[in-house]
Amino acid sequence: MGWLPDERFIVAPMAEPKAVTRFHAPDYLEALRRAEKTQVVSDVDRDRYRIGAEGNPVYKEIYRRPMTSAGGVMLACRLTRDGGIVHCPGGGTHHGRPSRASGFCYLNDPVLGLLTWLDLGLDNIVYLDIDAHHGDGVQDAFHNDDRVLTISIHEAGRWPFTGLADDRAGGAARNLPAPQGFNDSEMRWLMTHAVLPLIAERRPQAIFLQCGADALEEDPLAKLSLSNNAHFAVVAALRDMAPRLVVTGGGGYNPYTVGRCWAGAWATLNRIPIPPRTTPEAEAVLRALVYNRAAGRNPPAHWFTTIQDEARDGVVRDEIKRLADLTLFERLDA
Ligand SMILES: [Zn+2]
Repeated sequence: MGWLPDERFIVAPMAEPKAVTRFHAPDYLEALRRAEKTQVVSDVDRDRYRIGAEGNPVYKEIYRRPMTSAGGVMLACRLTRDGGIVHCPGGGTHHGRPSRASGFCYLNDPVLGLLTWLDLGLDNIVYLDIDAHHGDGVQDAFHNDDRVLTISIHEAGRWPFTGLADDRAGGAARNLPAPQGFNDSEMRWLMTHAVLPLIAERRPQAIFLQCGADALEEDPLAKLSLSNNAHFAVVAALRDMAPRLVVTGGGGYNPYTVGRCWAGAWATLNRIPIPPRTTPEAEAVLRALVYNRAAGRNPPAHWFTTIQDEARDGVVRDEIKRLADLTLFERLDA
């Protein structure tokens, strides 16, 4: 789209192992390295580290790829030391556990980024996660840690089945599980009546947005119905709420909607108006994508010719209003 001048683009470096082993177990990192080298996993490694199990496939760059997203996110946080905004769409692997893979996530780059901010002396950070799945790995990493408030909006009743509305992680989390069919108006309601007031009250020094694209209507893994306007509105709302903002990617299993969503997030961060039609160059990128699912056999034209979706507004259901009220109460048992 011509929105990314070369001088604004930095190639993410691979993380240093010692920067990663502060959260991840050294033996687990070694197992990832072994899996990349040999492309096979022993029964012991599979059982212990869940590599090659439970939907965490062994693939060619199984060590380098997560180490690079971790390096990118940690660099993003360092770059904002004195303020600023960085978009690191390769990051956002929020399910990663200290010594095992989970939910296609091998390392937890958001945790490593948040730890980088804490190292810089920050002690009031908000992590907002709008991926369709609960940000369980990040929440658990900062359980009971009042320096990092983790807020997750995700589909109710979906894997990993954690993040219920009354789960506060010892006070350090808020969870907003949304029902199937969750629309743009309902997202706006939760942001306006719960999430943004919480953030405004806290006045954080930094905000980390995990901007997963799997809550979009056309994503095959979840049953939420957002348009990418919902994501752009979240990005725009956060842009001016803290002196530091890091935006990552996350889940997203329809490559057309992922590319359009995160390109539009970049435009929104830069206050670039999104034109009604893609440029020929952008259209060529989108047309070259491969999508091995039924919807990929005959993709609709707007997946190639637009960045911004039509809005998907709708009725705000009572359960959404209750969820917003619940989130703002200080104590659920009070
Ligand atoms: Zn997800």
